[in-house]
Amino acid sequence: MREPNEAGPVHRYDAIIVGAGFSGLYQLHLLRDRLGLSVRVLEAAEGIGGTWYWNRYPGARCDSESYYYSYSFSRELEDEWEWTERYPEHGEIRRYLDHVADRFDLRRDIQLGTRVAGATYDEAANRWTVTTEVGERFEAQFVIAAVGCLSSANVPAIPGLESFAGAWYHTGRWPHEGVDFSGKRVGLIGTGSTGIQATPVIAAEAAHLTVFQRTANYSVPARNGPMDESFKAWVRENSEALRRKAREAPNGHPFDLSDRSALAVSAQEREAIYEAAWDRGGLRFRAAFRDIMLDRDANETASAFIRGKIRSIVKDPEVAETLTPRDHLFATKRPPIDTNYFETFNRDNVTLVDLKSSPIEAIVPEGVRTRDATYPLDVIVFATGFDALTGPLLGLDIRGRDGLTLKDVWAAGPKSYLGLQVPGFPNLFTMTGPGSPSVLTNMPVAIEQHAEWIADCLLHLRERGLDRIEAMPEAAESWGAEVNRAASATLLPMASSSWYLGANVPGKPRVFMPYAGGMAHYRGICERVAAEGYDGFALR
Ligand code: FAD
Ligand code: NAP
Repeated sequence: MREPNEAGPVHRYDAIIVGAGFSGLYQLHLLRDRLGLSVRVLEAAEGIGGTWYWNRYPGARCDSESYYYSYSFSRELEDEWEWTERYPEHGEIRRYLDHVADRFDLRRDIQLGTRVAGATYDEAANRWTVTTEVGERFEAQFVIAAVGCLSSANVPAIPGLESFAGAWYHTGRWPHEGVDFSGKRVGLIGTGSTGIQATPVIAAEAAHLTVFQRTANYSVPARNGPMDESFKAWVRENSEALRRKAREAPNGHPFDLSDRSALAVSAQEREAIYEAAWDRGGLRFRAAFRDIMLDRDANETASAFIRGKIRSIVKDPEVAETLTPRDHLFATKRPPIDTNYFETFNRDNVTLVDLKSSPIEAIVPEGVRTRDATYPLDVIVFATGFDALTGPLLGLDIRGRDGLTLKDVWAAGPKSYLGLQVPGFPNLFTMTGPGSPSVLTNMPVAIEQHAEWIADCLLHLRERGLDRIEAMPEAAESWGAEVNRAASATLLPMASSSWYLGANVPGKPRVFMPYAGGMAHYRGICERVAAEGYDGFALR
């Protein structure tokens, strides 16, 4: 972290970008190299990569497939980079982003170790002042918050944590030197995508692993493996078509959604289709039928299939039952994919604790105490997720026109226009914020769309001698209605404990945050808005 600099100079730029993950890097490239703006990226971490800088826990890897969990904007970049696995580990994704930063000479405009603590708009000057936690000051006409949706770690306020005699870690703030689990009794809290990835890897190393599960989860095998030469060649040959398909798909993944209903086939045929999807693995399991995410009965067939798989994999029927999700439907919470997750519960050194029947009461010096027992532990791993979507934005303490704070404006839940701007905060853009498709997509696709739309918008302003753009309140209102409508057309809001709804953070308003209307549809709306002179925005 930088030294305090209270009385230092004000650094002036055309644009400040906060965050140096996939979003911030591409936005910098566009604004600096295409528009010729002076840009500074401020990044809290000591390295670039965002999600992949912070999440280095055992088993951390992407679950979008490598050859499309990457940028598509540069053919040369695509041609020169080779992925080694279907789902690369965090280190490989970090190396890729490092390569991007070097290749496009981005580092000279990125300031690491710099956490932004405030962003205040001065209406008279039409400038933003951005301050860091050590008092450094920056001024810019535009601010782009590329702070990520899943970058604010959620460590639950369990009484007694400070008294724990062992070591504890949150997966999203994992130590770079790794954690040595050998010979240790490890407790892992949380069975979302992260816990499900980490469980098998920790179990293989630790003396004993206790998994504390509050909500049982569905998971489908990832079927990870090396990218063999023939597959690499296929990707190279089809790369343009794959990228086009990803751009045109509702969720940014280049796979074909079946045109059949799960209810329109015989039970036998349905089973065979699910078996094939299970064998193939990955997030595309959801595409086995067109209505898995739309129709409750259709979804129930997929949910029941996975429940059957859990029963067949896990040998102890009682453990299998505890691992079986019954309170929500498949993929209504973000679906994890795994490598030997359910199989891990057949190991002798793994214990499952059902927090639904016996909640955690406290952390005590020797371990975790639930209502019924105390589990002695040397290490606790919190795989407890994030204050998603709004958390990182509210962390910027954004103050707009007339002293309006984002915190107050979003007190009852986030509202935005297109997930890109909030009324009252001119010239401030949010990337993949609430109201955008963001986490419901393969995110590089959503990120590229946002970065390009924002760059085009700033170009539009410049070419017309305009200096300010602000979302209009009525546009944000009607976009909010559209976000609700789109969510209601799916089964997603049915999972009442989902982080999509903010339900994982106590006190957070329950509002379905991402836009579920589909990435391609959203892209069309954004293009129309721009083509109509930025309809719904006030330009000055
Ligand atoms: P981030 O990568 O989160 O970067 C934001 C950056 O902003 C961070 O570096 C953070 O330090 C910085 N920042 C935040 N606040 C401040 C501040 N106040 N001051 C300064 N800097 C700040 N998505 C997929 O599509 N497919 C996947 O397979 C996938 N796997 C994932 C696995 C994990 C473990 C996690 C947590 C997320 C995964 N995601 C996945 C989502 C992932 O977050 C996005 O794909 C993508 O990496 C987001 O990039 P970003 O640049 O928008 O945000
Ligand atoms: P998550 O999905 O929010 O899961 C958090 C887990 O912790 C849940 O099981 C939750 O239980 C539990 N939990 C939270 N607070 C708890 C408490 N106080 N006591 C006990 N249990 C508690 O978080 P995540 O697994 O880190 O994943 C977040 C998102 O990051 C994913 O959905 C995905 O978008 C992304 N991600 C992707 C990958 C990938 O495969 N590429 C990997 C990791 C993360 P409840 O369900 O009961 O709330």
